[in-house]
Amino acid sequence: MITTTKVQAIDCRHFINGKFVELKKGKSFENINPATEEVIGLVAEGGKEEVDIAVTAARKALDGPWKTFTLEERSKILRRIGDLILERQDELARLEALDTGKPVSLANSVDIPRAAYNFHFFADYIISVGTDAYQQNEEALHYAIRRPVGVVGIIKPWNLPLLLLTWKLAPCLGMGNTAVIKPAEWTPMTATVLMEIMKEAGVPDGVVNLVHGFGPGSAGGAISEHPDIDAISFIGEPRTGAAIMKAGADSLKKLSYELGGKNPNIIFADADMDDVIETTMKSSFINQGQVCMCGSRIYVERPAYEEFLEKFVAKVKELKVGQPFEADTNVGALISKEHYDKVTSYLDIAREEGGVILTGGKRPEELDKGYFLEPTIITGLDKNSRCVREEIFGPVVTVIPFDTEEEVIEQANDTHYGLSASIWTTNLKRGHRVAHQIEAGMVWVNTWFLRDLRTPFGGMKHSGVGRTGGMHSLDFYSELSNITIKL
Ligand code: NAD
Repeated sequence: MITTTKVQAIDCRHFINGKFVELKKGKSFENINPATEEVIGLVAEGGKEEVDIAVTAARKALDGPWKTFTLEERSKILRRIGDLILERQDELARLEALDTGKPVSLANSVDIPRAAYNFHFFADYIISVGTDAYQQNEEALHYAIRRPVGVVGIIKPWNLPLLLLTWKLAPCLGMGNTAVIKPAEWTPMTATVLMEIMKEAGVPDGVVNLVHGFGPGSAGGAISEHPDIDAISFIGEPRTGAAIMKAGADSLKKLSYELGGKNPNIIFADADMDDVIETTMKSSFINQGQVCMCGSRIYVERPAYEEFLEKFVAKVKELKVGQPFEADTNVGALISKEHYDKVTSYLDIAREEGGVILTGGKRPEELDKGYFLEPTIITGLDKNSRCVREEIFGPVVTVIPFDTEEEVIEQANDTHYGLSASIWTTNLKRGHRVAHQIEAGMVWVNTWFLRDLRTPFGGMKHSGVGRTGGMHSLDFYSELSNITIKL
């Protein structure tokens, strides 16, 4: 069954100081639908000039009406934004599917509800937590207050566009900051609609600004270098993070980074195999494998290796790769030709490295347009293979057997990345023991991607700088000032 797209793609304009800026000739680029390879709209391209105007508006707004909003008033605004996202859920989900190529069912069940929840969660959270207060004997009382950091640059990737933008923007606004946002060039639409929502929710002009464009030499580079931006919240690749760090070094910007991952999924032979298979399907192929936390390196204890492979391959073959707006599609299109070429280049590397592709590894025959790739399982590679070490960020997983706990811990940690891991065992002692030794910011035992937004979220090593979630987000988006009163 094909459900029509109903919602038309939109042209994407900058949003600066509460107004959409007209598209200028020669300063725009084409937005491509990755499932059809068709041009679906135009996107304004901003650079230094537009970012300058946006930063000036954001700086001015810090001292405007926004400054007088109480915490409760900001909380109400966040709640209203979350409500408005839900009111426009259908439209937003369809735009997200058009932009990214992901199944609209996924956008409807994950991306957009979670984007709304990001605002609802922080609406509640900011008014329910306190700050540090200590009484030092009879001598002194110490207490901390929070102030905004200032103007925050928010630079986003394309895989979960609205979900990740709102994850940063909600606490940023909750703490009274102003923002200049740059969505990924591939996925500009839902961020643009969010600006309409900001206006409708009563966010004062200049508090949230949006400049579209690319990275270096474009809007992303201009935000990174801008001396009047106080902090940058970035999600994307480690090497982009390094470039942003260098560009912002002179102005000593505060940085929060969520970067790439090459996450191990460690399956012991005593695990509940049905549970393992069901979750591994998601942790491998949800969003075409383009989720930073996808478990792309699967390690299976040898006694369970054959059983796992047999069941996993059979299930994966049942996945339907198809158009994002077909109701039974499980796996949509990759984001772009460039990314499709990168992901498929790893299949050649795997073959050269002696890997065996058990299923997938090619474009489905019936789909001759669009960047579609069958979910792919590779075995026969060793730990030094590039496919095992590098982030592919597509529907491609490697499966490797292991014999001992020590061996699998060593292999799991043998990477520059350290974002997440998933451990499967019915031996709880072992679950704890292994979890404590895995170098990752988030370790799940007998589950994957189970989130509570109060918990720390982020990566070790090259997978991130700092943590977000709950208090960690408030700490990044505010400056704490400690006040001491002598008693
Ligand atoms: P990317 O680093 O190529 O781009 C991210 C953003 O940075 C885009 O908006 C891009 O225009 C901008 N950019 C690129 N070069 C820049 C520069 N020199 N200066 C300023 N801005 C620049 O990443 P991507 O391909 O969009 O996203 C995929 C990556 O993001 C993967 O590595 C994935 O693991 C990671 N990711 C991490 C998380 C997390 O929570 N840890 C979540 C989602 C994605």
